Amino acid sequence: MSGTMVEQTYEAVIGIECHVELKTASKMFCGCRNEFGGEPNTQLCPVCLALPGALPVPNRVAVEHVVRAGLACGAAIPSFSKFDRKNYFYPDMPKDYQISQFDMPLVSGGVVRFRREDGSEGSCRLTRIHLEEDTGKSTHMGSGDGRIAGSTHSLVDFNRAGVPLMEVVSEPELRSAEDAVAFLEYLRLTFLYLGISDVKMEEGSLRCDANVSIRPVGSTEFGTKTEIKNMNSFRSVWRAIQSEIERQRSVLAEGGRVAQETRGWDEANGITHSMRSKEQAHDYRYFPDPDLVPLTLEAAWVEDLRAKTGLIPIAAYERLERACGLAPAQIRQLLGDPALVRFLLQTVDMRPDDVAFAQAAANWLLGDVLRMLNERGVSIDGQRTLTAQALAECAELAMAGAITSKTAKELLERVMAEGGSPKEIVAREGLAQLSDPSMIAGIVDQVMAANAKSVADFQAGKENAIKALVGQVMKVSKGKANPQLAESLLRERLKQP
Ligand SMILES: [Zn+2]
Repeated sequence: MSGTMVEQTYEAVIGIECHVELKTASKMFCGCRNEFGGEPNTQLCPVCLALPGALPVPNRVAVEHVVRAGLACGAAIPSFSKFDRKNYFYPDMPKDYQISQFDMPLVSGGVVRFRREDGSEGSCRLTRIHLEEDTGKSTHMGSGDGRIAGSTHSLVDFNRAGVPLMEVVSEPELRSAEDAVAFLEYLRLTFLYLGISDVKMEEGSLRCDANVSIRPVGSTEFGTKTEIKNMNSFRSVWRAIQSEIERQRSVLAEGGRVAQETRGWDEANGITHSMRSKEQAHDYRYFPDPDLVPLTLEAAWVEDLRAKTGLIPIAAYERLERACGLAPAQIRQLLGDPALVRFLLQTVDMRPDDVAFAQAAANWLLGDVLRMLNERGVSIDGQRTLTAQALAECAELAMAGAITSKTAKELLERVMAEGGSPKEIVAREGLAQLSDPSMIAGIVDQVMAANAKSVADFQAGKENAIKALVGQVMKVSKGKANPQLAESLLRERLKQP
């Protein structure tokens, strides 16, 4: 075939599947502890080991968590749901089937709204969220990294078998690796704000796969997709998707066809590699679990959970942007710590519609308060001395010019160490800023007389000498003089011959 080759422009089509281990006291269908990091094979019972005759009982809290996740994403909660058996063999799965949900998941639809790094908005709809149980964990011993055939032996730990696992499936609506990561970040934050999971990728409580395909820009049909696995950080999600898009582009550019397959992400080499093709795809032979009665979700119970949703990250973002006038970078710094965000919003609510006050409070929180917390190695809700009220008082005192910023810092330190009300401390100890020109003028005269050299330096054109003189005024006034007022009085006096 001949003819002119036209460089084709492609767009990426990405969907995400995310597995989230739920934070509960016990496992999904038995009373064993749901705890990460225990001695191998110590959190087991006949139910999670699937011994003959053992019967599962659903964990009510896990069901609540999934419904709350759905409500936070504005999803529909069907009144009827059921558990199904997903049949496949895997050495770390004691039942040789997994209790999951096939055609009647707990949550249907929903949308995750997110903000990108530059603050622009994006969103991606959800297909469904369902509840299942996790598998155990294999450790492959022997040569290589364990994935290589010929490993000598494998160890299995069933502690994780039966841990409640929530699977979130998105629609293929993401168009870039950046958006996929932003979507995942907001999904992670949503579950963190709801308190339903630790969402730690490094401990495996958040795991995700990405379905990636490309198509000519303007086309509405989907290209052939590949499923990418083994990504263990948001950075590797970004790199893997980026690399897979590039790989598919070069396959098509060379006149080839993308094969539908599962590909693993190779972090060290920065490429994806084929794991299994579609022909090897499993037939799971789903059927309703005969040991579990279907779930009927009462509308009143769902409404009660809806009322308890609380603050979600995208709403927090919008409030921090609107009420506090914070920049995207500052909001990103805050957003990962729900307790810090709640603390700031509680402070801001004390003077609604006062953006200057909100900004001052945010600056104190992001600056000195965060530094002090880091120095003490505590989180904002791990300390009991600094209250939202105290932060508000500090910001108000500094804004009104009632105290110098130096005094404000010292006050914050004191309140953080011993508690109390900044306003009361200022009144009791006479820490109010000296803003009376006649009183400062007296100190200025005293300082000029005692620092003839600095005075002569300034008058000889050494502009910097003013700093030394202001410093002396602050020292003599014990840090209480208004520094701007001190400087302007000094300049006025120094101009006189
Ligand atoms: Zn158990």
